[in-house]
Amino acid sequence: MTHTTPTRSLLWATVALTGALSSTAVAQDHNYDEEAGLTHYRLFVGDHADGVVRAIELEDGADAGTFKIEQTPALTPSDSGRRLFAVQGEAGTVATIATGIAFEDHGDHADISVTDAALLPVTIGGIKPAHVIEGSGTIAIFDDGSGDVTLFSEGDLTADGFDPMTIPTGAAHHGLAAPMGDYLVVSVPAEDPEAPRVGLRVIDTAGDAMGEVVDCPGVHGQAQSARVFAFGCQDGIVLATPGTGAEPPVLEHISTTDLGEGNVSTLKGGKAMQFFLGNFGSDAVVVIELGSDDPFNVIPLPTRRVDFALDPAKVQNAYILTEDGQLHLLDVLKGEITQSARVTAPYSMDGHWRDARPRLAVAGNHIAITDPNEGLIRVISIATLKEERTIPVEGTPYTIVAVGGSGATD
Ligand code: ZN
Repeated sequence: MTHTTPTRSLLWATVALTGALSSTAVAQDHNYDEEAGLTHYRLFVGDHADGVVRAIELEDGADAGTFKIEQTPALTPSDSGRRLFAVQGEAGTVATIATGIAFEDHGDHADISVTDAALLPVTIGGIKPAHVIEGSGTIAIFDDGSGDVTLFSEGDLTADGFDPMTIPTGAAHHGLAAPMGDYLVVSVPAEDPEAPRVGLRVIDTAGDAMGEVVDCPGVHGQAQSARVFAFGCQDGIVLATPGTGAEPPVLEHISTTDLGEGNVSTLKGGKAMQFFLGNFGSDAVVVIELGSDDPFNVIPLPTRRVDFALDPAKVQNAYILTEDGQLHLLDVLKGEITQSARVTAPYSMDGHWRDARPRLAVAGNHIAITDPNEGLIRVISIATLKEERTIPVEGTPYTIVAVGGSGATD
């Protein structure tokens, strides 16, 4: 394991801040009148038992809509925060929800508009859709049941006659497809459908392979930071860097085998700073700094990890929830946990991976944590890691997404 030094600094990338989440940099969590500004966060909560997504206003816990779908969903917001994808793998469908929160960039400021959330008529079908990945303005939904990937842009969802492009990538498997310009980085299954995935390769939008398969055994998990994608493998990570001009992306495998027991299978990407945060086995996380001779910094956790998230605005902050009910503040620049507090009762990671356990979402100056056993959302202050209030939620609150930020209003 590598050790952390306080002087260690991550590479600061010049990344254009885009989308709703970046607007949280100046966020307060209460509405304010200064220069006609407004801050608004809305939570979307997937039920663990029923096909329901509930929209809830963070500020006062008000009901902002209940959307009936077919089964308990995995929730992924679009990069802009305007749309939410409710993936229902076993039901073979992905529902789309308009979050009602939108930002319009006016150069020196952004305008926020808040309207009703709505279940949209557009659904994306398939046999068993799973991973949703957005890159270069394209959203890719991988269908584990067919090996096909469906591609569309966020704007297509409102157009009449939604007609996404579908590209076959190979045999059915639990896979992924990451859009990078005119190309896709896709997972490559083993010949034996029972065997783990073998690697990644680049295809074009006709489905034709560009170059060789790069080894990435058991590939699972991906994130994007400053135009680079990272993917988790059983023996390391693979980085996909955009090619120059019209060239396809370049794939590079970096081994993690000398870091000890564990591997990366879930990743988050820094928004305003280029780095990745991954799991490393069940009871550690790893900060990945690109371009460094020593890119991996493994940080052990006191118990197994339940969920984790990066703060899109306070770029050095990551929040990690562990099975003992503790929430940890990780300073990714220092590579150290700087604060911990008990926020829920323990939720053991023994049992099925899909058992109802807390999930967290970052909403301005708060972290919203679902507590399924208590039927609550716990609203935690980022400054103190203390609970400020709870929001009762019907059913069994489970997956959670926060959208919103601050903007001007005309
Ligand atoms: Zn997966």
